[in-house]
This record gives sequence, C-alpha cells and structure tokens, in this order.
Amino acid sequence: ADSRSLNFIEHIIEDDLASGFPKDQLRFRFPPEPNGYLHIGHASSICLNFGLGLRYDAPVNLRFDDTNPAKEEAEYVDAIKRDVSWLGFEWAEERYASDYFQQLYDWAEDLIRQGKAYVDSQSSEEIAAQKGTPTEPGTNSPHRNRSVSENLELFRGMKDGKFEAGAHVLRAKIDMASPNMLMRDPVMYRILHRAHHRTNTDWCIYPLYDWTHGESDYIEQVSHSLCTLEFKPHRPLYDWFLDAVTEAGKLRPKQREFARRNLSHTVVSKRKLLQLVEGGHVSGWDDPRMPTISGLRRRGCTPEAIRNFADTIGIAKRDNVVDVALLDFHMREHLNQIAPRVMAVLDPVKVVLTNYPEGETEWLETENNPEDPGAGTREIPFSRELYIEREDFREQANRKFFRLKLGGEVRLKSGYIIKAEQAVKDASGTITEIHCTYDPKSRSGSGTEESRRKVKGTLHWVSAEHAHRAEVRLYDRLFTDATPDQHKDRDFMEFLNPDSLEVVEARIEPGLAGAQPGERFQFQRLGYFCVDPDSSEDRLVFNRTVTLRDTWAK
Ligand code: ATP
Ligand code: MG
Ligand code: MG
Repeated sequence: ADSRSLNFIEHIIEDDLASGFPKDQLRFRFPPEPNGYLHIGHASSICLNFGLGLRYDAPVNLRFDDTNPAKEEAEYVDAIKRDVSWLGFEWAEERYASDYFQQLYDWAEDLIRQGKAYVDSQSSEEIAAQKGTPTEPGTNSPHRNRSVSENLELFRGMKDGKFEAGAHVLRAKIDMASPNMLMRDPVMYRILHRAHHRTNTDWCIYPLYDWTHGESDYIEQVSHSLCTLEFKPHRPLYDWFLDAVTEAGKLRPKQREFARRNLSHTVVSKRKLLQLVEGGHVSGWDDPRMPTISGLRRRGCTPEAIRNFADTIGIAKRDNVVDVALLDFHMREHLNQIAPRVMAVLDPVKVVLTNYPEGETEWLETENNPEDPGAGTREIPFSRELYIEREDFREQANRKFFRLKLGGEVRLKSGYIIKAEQAVKDASGTITEIHCTYDPKSRSGSGTEESRRKVKGTLHWVSAEHAHRAEVRLYDRLFTDATPDQHKDRDFMEFLNPDSLEVVEARIEPGLAGAQPGERFQFQRLGYFCVDPDSSEDRLVFNRTVTLRDTWAK
C-alpha cells in the first residue's frame, strides 16, 4: 500500500471493514468481454482492481465475460491475458462466465419455478414496443402469466435447440411499471445458434449481461464488483437477481460504480477501435497509434508509465476526458530514466570537414545515460563526412538560432567544435553538403582549454561512412479533434488525422545494429524511440514513442 490518499472506492471498502466485513473475504475481479483488445480506459479498471488486491492482500480474478459468441474470439482472450500480465499484474484465477452456463441455467429454472421468470414468445419489436417510456408504465406481455410447467417446457425446448433464433426469450418477471426501465421484465436468455469459442455448440441459448454478471460475481464470491457508471441504473437489477439466488451464509457481492476514463484525441471503445482496424485505417489492434495496451507497448510505452498515469488520474465519479499529453508526460518521465541515449539523424544532410584527414576514423567516448550513472559509456565513430539534421543548418539566421549557420560554430555532441564555411547546392537550390572546418583541439573530454570552450549549440550527428540506414515511423495524434466521438452530428471517423504517420529513412549510429524489437532508446535531441517487430536482421524499424517535449500544436 502506498501513501497517497484513499480514493472513494477505497473509502467504501474501509467503511465496510470498519463495520465488520472480514478483511479475508475481500475479493475483486477484472471482467473484460473478449470482443476486442484492451485499451487505456481498461488500464484504469485494471489498475483499480489489481491495486485493491495489492492494498488489501486480496485475490483478484481475471474473468472473461464471454456470453456473446457473435463477437468474441479466443484471439482476444490471449491478447487480454498478455496485456494484463505486461502491465505487471497477477490474477488469482482465470475464470470464464461461460464456465457458469450450466449453473446459470439451473438457477433460471429455479426462477421459473418460483414464478420469477417466464418465456415470452413475442418478437423483439413487440417486446420493445411494450416497454413504455420513463414516464409511462409498460404493458404486460400476453405470455407473462404462463404456468410454471409451460414455461419450463418452453425453456427446455429453447435449450434443446427446438426453436429458431428470436422465437422465444426468457424474461425476469419484475415490474412493467417500474420507474427504472431496466426492471421492466428484462430479458435473461436469448436463442443464438452459434458456436462459442469455449463451449462450442453445447449451448444455443446465451445469458445476457445483467443475468450473468452478478451471478458470476456470486459464484466467485467477489466482495466488491466495480464497474463503470453506465451500470449504475443496473444496480437494482443486479441486486434483484442476487436476491433470487443467494443462500444464507454466503457472501453477497456488492456493485459499485466509478467513472469511465476517456483519453483526448482518440476513442476508447472496442467497437470503434475495431472499426479502425477493419477499415484499414491502422495496421491492426497493435498499431502504435492505437490507444490499446498492445499499441502503446509496440510504440515503446512502458507498463510503469501506464500505471503511473492511471495512478495520477485516479478514480472519478463523473466521466471525463484526460489529456493525452498527461500520458506522454508519464512516458517521458520513465523513459528518461531508463532509455540509453543514442544518435540518429532523421532528415540527414551531409557535413564535410574539409580540414579533417581523409580516410581516418576516430572513436569518441560518450555517455549512455546521464540519468543513470551505472549505464556506462560507449564509443562512436567520427570521420571526415558526417550527417546532421537538415533543420539544424541555416545559411543565415538571427542570434536566437543556436544551431549551425554560415560563419557560426556549434559543438558536435561528444565530439568537436565545427564552423560552417560553405553551403553546396544542387541545380534546384537544395543544399547537398555543408563544408565545415573543425577545431582539432576541441574534442570533448580531451582536457584541453579548447575542449571546454563554450559555444551556444550542440548538435547530434552520425558518421556518414559508419551510419546504418533505418526506417523510422513518426506518429502524430490519430484524431485531429480532442473528443472525436462526442460530437452530436458528426461521425468520429471524420476527424481521423490524415498525417498521423510519417515514415522517414534515418541514419543511425552503427552500435544500434542488433537491437531487438521492444528495445527503447532516446535519440538525442529528438525523442524516445522503440524497435518495432517489423525490423529484420539488416534493417531496423523504429517507432517514435514520444518527443522530448510537448511540441504538438493544440
Ligand atoms: P468498450 O466500450 O471498449 O467495449 P466495455 O466496458 O464494454 O468497454 P469491457 O470488456 O466490458 O469493456 O470492460 C472490462 C472492464 O473495464 C469493465 O469493468 C469496464 O467497466 C472497464 N472499462 C472499460 N472501459 C473503461 C474506461 N474507458 N474507463 C474505465 N474503465 C473502463
Ligand atoms: Mg462491457
Ligand atoms: Mg463493450
């Protein structure tokens, strides 16, 4: 447990403990539906539930809420497990709502026998038309008073595959006049002739969320079932279903709600993210522009950064949008500590040191990470021809331009002071080479007076002959609007940023050869970058995780 102040869910738990709830009966769960990949919104829920597990030394189950075979797949189950583990959490047990299908079915028969459920044979349109409005009561179904035996026979027939989809549903018999629309005889089961990724064709009726969720919590004896705010009106139904099955002496779970976290300039909804994937707007669920955990991982984000982000934003009672800049901040914070510094030039222009001996290579020592004294040093090659960033040179510039200009000096990081003498251009006027002279006595760390000479700018560079080529993918926000899916009359897809990906051919220091997918670096003066799995033996591909500063124009 840490020292920060308690969030309101923790206060609820503290109150329960204070009023006698046994601490050893605390139990939580994270309940994803395996119908997509986890996103940064889920990270909040994961950090909340698993954080409670750590704080109270209580088990946390990973429960797949897999009741809809039309949308769920084993691929998603695997991805979710990978992502939760990667975030650094361990679940007590891996559970599946589908493991409870038989128990749920048996309970449903009990409800029928108790007169608390009935088979309705109307179409879904008819049922919807009878729902009423929030101010007017609904109408009872003509099948509402079917006898127990007729209900049991029909329900068993549904289960045994005797009917087409839509022929019947099982409904809870609650109150068609309830002010809470969700209590107006909600559907518990529907017929669906579709194979399930775990139970295959064992079932052709599937339980709905409200009927499944609380009962699953009860089966697992989850003490505090935390869900997002949209389920608040479902709470009376959650309780009604539990009342129907809870036995004396067993723990009765308690649903409590917290706010959804949205992230600016993106969408956090699996359905919408799936649309991006299926529409080919991104390369997949793990495209580094996606707000998915797998996308963030591929981009180079660390689990620590996500956990710190989730901790900072905490748990709220109202839905809200968190600025993605805060996530970027946490990425920088952590990467600054752990990422080795290297040199890479993204938009190279050649520098020729006219007074440097031809064919000579010097190896210059440079620090791996000034933030980490244990990170050591390495040697980088220096020679007569180098690359610097094209934007680091101007023929003429005012005094605020601390980079290279004609007649001006800069220091090459861990190297020498150079002075620009001449810009060589091609027929179109594009600069092809910058001819410079270097000060041979100015080498960094050489101990000479010149080595300590202060010049205004320091540039990163690579030796032209030694540098390797690499593909670098530069990412921008996926959406140009801060809240793309919160506009009344506009579809979120209209706000897709057409320039969210730029691919450049960079030159990188040769020591990077052999870097493995997932390895993270700071490209000096540019930002943090991570090796992408698209890399091959002889060609590295990097993703820009985040720039060094928040330079994005809002
Ligand atoms: P989506 O709309 O993306 O499908 P969901 O809530 O339907 O989201 P689930 O798989 O049911 O997705 O979510 C698992 C858990 O994560 C639930 O408890 C859910 O409330 C929580 N969760 C989902 N999205 C967010 C979010 N944006 N912020 C906080 N918690 C979330
Ligand atoms: Mg859900
Ligand atoms: Mg959903």
